[in-house]
Amino acid sequence: MPHDDPDHPHALMPPDPALRVKALETILTRKGLIDPAALDEIIDTYQNRIGPKNGARVVARAWCDPEFRQALLTDANPVLAGLGYYGRQGEHMVVVENTPRQHNMVVCTLCSCYPWPLLGIPPGWYKSDAYRARAVREPRKVLAEFGVTLPADTAIRVWDSTAEIRYLVLPMRPEGTEGLAEDELAELVSRDSMIGTGLPKVPS
Ligand code: FE
Repeated sequence: MPHDDPDHPHALMPPDPALRVKALETILTRKGLIDPAALDEIIDTYQNRIGPKNGARVVARAWCDPEFRQALLTDANPVLAGLGYYGRQGEHMVVVENTPRQHNMVVCTLCSCYPWPLLGIPPGWYKSDAYRARAVREPRKVLAEFGVTLPADTAIRVWDSTAEIRYLVLPMRPEGTEGLAEDELAELVSRDSMIGTGLPKVPS
């Protein structure tokens, strides 16, 4: 088998996927086949623009529309599909609601499963060994490191994503937002608040 031959070029590929990607990117750039600036733009789009904004719109709508909220909590998939937020890495969505009694937090202990159509590309820390191990073992401590301190009587429930099921946290609507319109509310919904490692912004 050629792949077992140490002299075969494939055997020289770096083992770390990040290095492989970097090597591939370098070759394609040198050959003029890709533009690194365009790649950065695509990543930025998923990471900072399209992704979390979709989730934020869903959350804001759930805050304003009790029927929508109920449908989302009962079975999120037809609701999200109706909004066009479905596809790769977001096929089987479950929405979990934060309440004064229970705070929800999402992790993928195995790898980095994450609801792409709603939140974009997962942040680096979500994929880190430390987060994946500690979110389950000491969630309250992890939350404190994210700047989230919850009342002692608020239970923390950690949801482990899989290739089958992805979770979206529906955070609690901040106080003092009664007069805000849905799109103004969406601005308050941070990415981390939908993973459960943050809270929505409070209007200034
Ligand atoms: Fe995973």
